[in-house]
Amino acid sequence: MLSALTISEAHDRLKKKEISSEELVRSCIERIESVDKKLNAVVYKNFESAIEAAKVVDKKGSFDSHLSGIPYLAKDVYSEAGVPTTGCSNMLREKNYISPFDSTTTKRLKSTGAISLGKTNTDEFTMGASTETSCYGVTKNPWDLTRVAGGSSGGSAAAVSADEAIFALGTDTGGSIRQPAGFCGIAGLRSTYGRTSRYGVMSMASSLDTTGSLCKTVEDLAIILEATAGKDIMDGTTSEKPVEPYSKLTNNMKGLRIGLPKEYFIEGIRPDCEKAIRDAAALLQSMGATLVDISLPHTKYAVATYYILCPCEVSSNMARYDGLRYGHTVKNPSDLVDYYQRTRSEGFGAEVKRRIMIGTYALSAGYFDAYYLKAQKVRTLIRKDFEDAFQKVDVILSPVSPHPAFRIGANSSDPVAMYLEDVFTVAQVMAGIPCLSVPCGFSDEGLPIGLQLMGPQWGEQTILNAAYAYEQATEWHKKKPTI
Ligand code: GLN
Repeated sequence: MLSALTISEAHDRLKKKEISSEELVRSCIERIESVDKKLNAVVYKNFESAIEAAKVVDKKGSFDSHLSGIPYLAKDVYSEAGVPTTGCSNMLREKNYISPFDSTTTKRLKSTGAISLGKTNTDEFTMGASTETSCYGVTKNPWDLTRVAGGSSGGSAAAVSADEAIFALGTDTGGSIRQPAGFCGIAGLRSTYGRTSRYGVMSMASSLDTTGSLCKTVEDLAIILEATAGKDIMDGTTSEKPVEPYSKLTNNMKGLRIGLPKEYFIEGIRPDCEKAIRDAAALLQSMGATLVDISLPHTKYAVATYYILCPCEVSSNMARYDGLRYGHTVKNPSDLVDYYQRTRSEGFGAEVKRRIMIGTYALSAGYFDAYYLKAQKVRTLIRKDFEDAFQKVDVILSPVSPHPAFRIGANSSDPVAMYLEDVFTVAQVMAGIPCLSVPCGFSDEGLPIGLQLMGPQWGEQTILNAAYAYEQATEWHKKKPTI
């Protein structure tokens, strides 16, 4: 099955003219048609234009770029000109909002010859850890259909894991690339805040949002980063720093100092998951790395801090969905207030409304100092924890999640339980550092487990190299779900 190829395998075969891009695209389409009814990972299919694009690439016959002729899926928060983009929210779905422009990331991919197959499921406007808040319903985990694929980029993770596409795009505000990648047994990278552009991607919490990819291998993550990173005049937070040749990976672990933060090996982690993580650390040590016990003392405040800052930014970012400019609108409002109230009550789901209310409350006069300001101060302490740690170590290693994929419905009636799913993935985002997830084993019930590697700001190459070295020495990434 061609759709099971990695980017670099597909590229090799395209270059040698053993396969055509059209065959590759058609293989992904066939796979989506045969398994997606079970998974619900793909929410919009752009198949006709994908086949047309593949024909154009084949006709040109130039496969010098790594991504030329490679089909992918994008999380349904990436704008693509002429394509519906709904954020998996009724607010935009109802009126079938069609984006008039391309996001910088999809534009850059297009310019390298990559081909968009369509859109993947996400929690509504990326708020969640399971895709259960999506207006299209939950995405199922290809390893066990009774479980979630994770979230919010759960559609992208399930799709890549089940070989519906060669790779997929996701976003990560508080773990949304790493956690679903971990739950589905694939690799996912969140880069340094400012490394990739957010232009044209729906905002949730602007000081935390990043774009990134979910892939079958670490090498593929590096290829996508290289193709999409770099300054973008449309996103003022992007850095001028030159884009490194990330895909020139090395697997020499000699002398690499790996920190094991004691706050990430706590009670509550499932023993089988902890064992997989510790085994991974031991393997890297046997390859020449040094393990160093470290502490990130403010970790215990990370979830609480994130769940103040994120809703505050949500409450501001969601203001644009007012029914006037686009999206859901109500009929016969009695006045403007009635119009706003009903539009937003009907258009948004419960989790989005919850965050708007928490954020508005935390920002209001009289509470601002106690919540938002305090959370910003704790954010600085969390960032400082990492700065101090990276004086002593090059990479920090931890679990992505305390357990493997949970059952559908297990947390959906308890928002706090759902927030606690993010226990290991929100501190990094407040520090703005790069971090990734790679498969590192299977749980007692046969579900994938993810290993998290974090680096200092702009340290993408270091964590990619370490993950690559680990991947080269193991077989976990080669295992596929039987679906
Ligand atoms: N689960 C986290 C949240 O709901 C992270 C989501 C994300 O990264 N988009 O905020």
